[in-house]
Amino acid sequence: MERFHLYGSGCEEWPTVQAITRDPSPPTTTLGYALFATRWLQAPLYFGLVAAQGVYVYKFFNELWALILRCITGQATETYVMLAVLKLVDVVMIANLLIMVIVGGYETFVSRIGLQGHRDQPEWLSHVNSNVLKVKLATAIVGISSVHLLQMFVDVHHTARHSLLWGTVIHMAFIVSAAILAYMSGPMAAHAERAHHRDHRADGPEPARPPAAVSIPAQAGPPPAETGAEERIRAAGFPARKALEEFDAEHPRAFDRETVARLGKLDFVATHGNVVFVGPPGTGKTHLAVGLGVRACQAGRRVLFDTAAGWAARLAGAQSAGRLTEELTALDDCPLLIVDEVGYVPFDAATSRLFFQLVAHRYERGSLIVTSDRPLDRWDEVFGGPAAPAMVDRLAHHAEIVRLEGESYRMRRATSEWAG
Ligand code: ADP
Ligand code: MG
Repeated sequence: MERFHLYGSGCEEWPTVQAITRDPSPPTTTLGYALFATRWLQAPLYFGLVAAQGVYVYKFFNELWALILRCITGQATETYVMLAVLKLVDVVMIANLLIMVIVGGYETFVSRIGLQGHRDQPEWLSHVNSNVLKVKLATAIVGISSVHLLQMFVDVHHTARHSLLWGTVIHMAFIVSAAILAYMSGPMAAHAERAHHRDHRADGPEPARPPAAVSIPAQAGPPPAETGAEERIRAAGFPARKALEEFDAEHPRAFDRETVARLGKLDFVATHGNVVFVGPPGTGKTHLAVGLGVRACQAGRRVLFDTAAGWAARLAGAQSAGRLTEELTALDDCPLLIVDEVGYVPFDAATSRLFFQLVAHRYERGSLIVTSDRPLDRWDEVFGGPAAPAMVDRLAHHAEIVRLEGESYRMRRATSEWAG
């Protein structure tokens, strides 16, 4: 038996995906998309804030230069130095606030920046949403107001009593509002999560998967590739652990070994490409999908595996809890999602739309591996309603289609055992 070689020399031409030209999107969504596209109007505002950052940089060095000059000429009293340093801290904190608004606001309201895996990705950016942003801003404002208050108390002889009083009252107001915002964001998130689980149960038994896969834990910076691989493999919810190396390349009658060897290098994950394994039952589609998933986990990428029915339940649960957008955004933390067994269960128009939204959301933003017993041009047999062609279009645009042909490996094993 010839085992599958990891680093095949295959670098020949990228197999072209059969052109599937259909209506690009259902007409009902066009108006919504047009409205959604207006978010780009906000983009220049963030560049305006970048200019404001520049002003703060200028102000900072001005203050610093003045401080240095006073120290050199011996005119700096202790109180003066303390006040000047506090002023510098104040400028830095406002600059931090600005960068938080610029990056977080752009990421939340305009477009993904795609920092996943970047070594300088801020910890909070991986789970930023408008709620998180509000709390972050409120706490940053509390920080700034406490520096101001400190400045007043350091220079207490030159500060009017009513300024001190109002400074303290305003500072307390900032603290109370930040505490209320932080408190509200906690129960709100927990409530949405509970509703999500309730809806899952109402939809029928949830497919077996380890608890970690239900909600994606926040990512504290990019995980080092060499550590945490086992945790990522456990969290991915694979039905069984399979390795590409265990795949018998001789078994399927038709099998593009070079393409799969190239996929094993995971470039498609880096370029947000997709992979579709198509073939009859038992030809190893799930095995290869899991093999690539395991390898991605070992390379430091987060992966989530589920059957198409499992994804349908998950997305429907999120939608009925009114948090489909949040769910899709949370899935961005996983550079690779695996949707197994497309075709075994037909989906109604509403569920098909959910799949369309998943594929459209991840388009050029994350990777999908899909396994199916039928080619893409027959997916309209699986996905009801008008969503199938638009979904196939997006999925196939940057996809590697791998066809497997032959008898079921399960059957072969069974018959050879029986013959033995
Ligand atoms: P499919 O998803 O195409 O229905 P699976 O990937 O579930 O098929 O394969 C069924 C079983 O046969 C799995 O245990 C898998 O590991 C094994 N298998 C299938 N093809 C091969 C192969 N070429 N080499 C080794 N094991 C295989
Ligand atoms: Mg399978």
